[in-house]
Amino acid sequence: MHSHPLHLFSHCPRCGGEFAINDARSKRCVDCGFTYYLNASAAVAAFIVNDQGELLVAQRAKEPARGTLDLPGGFVDPGEALETALMREVKEETGALLQSASYLFSLPNVYLYSDFEVHTTDAFFLCSIDQDSPLRSADDVESLQWIAPHDIHADDFGLQSIRRAIRYFLQMPHNVSKPA
Ligand SMILES: [Zn+2]
Repeated sequence: MHSHPLHLFSHCPRCGGEFAINDARSKRCVDCGFTYYLNASAAVAAFIVNDQGELLVAQRAKEPARGTLDLPGGFVDPGEALETALMREVKEETGALLQSASYLFSLPNVYLYSDFEVHTTDAFFLCSIDQDSPLRSADDVESLQWIAPHDIHADDFGLQSIRRAIRYFLQMPHNVSKPA
């Protein structure tokens, strides 16, 4: 079954009129002409590596994929830069201050929220944190742990795009080194 990505949007948010399919990813009101396009939401995720080359991983406290491993990160707020979102999410979920971040790659992702397929573009960064500041998990993170590269298994990560990203990361020659 392949339905329109805006199939749950049946009425115009401006006038309540019939919201009809405009093209593959937009709908248009038959009464007032209001048009809405579905775009990908931006999200960020952090590969935080310490001096020993270990990766900081989080255990998810919430659905989807509750209990599986994850990387610190989350959605970018409207008006926010990727770097600002990364700094905010790392602080919220680990308590740590980001010291450096360099862009690695991005992956498209889809996940179901309220029966709605949310499309995201996840941007991944290689990061370091202030290792003197104590870690404390919060928000949607149950616990945090440092894992050596040879103990990292992609299948332990519950979200599909994170799992793919972990496989990419493990293949990168510099995954054990600190960002410059
Ligand atoms: Zn309308």
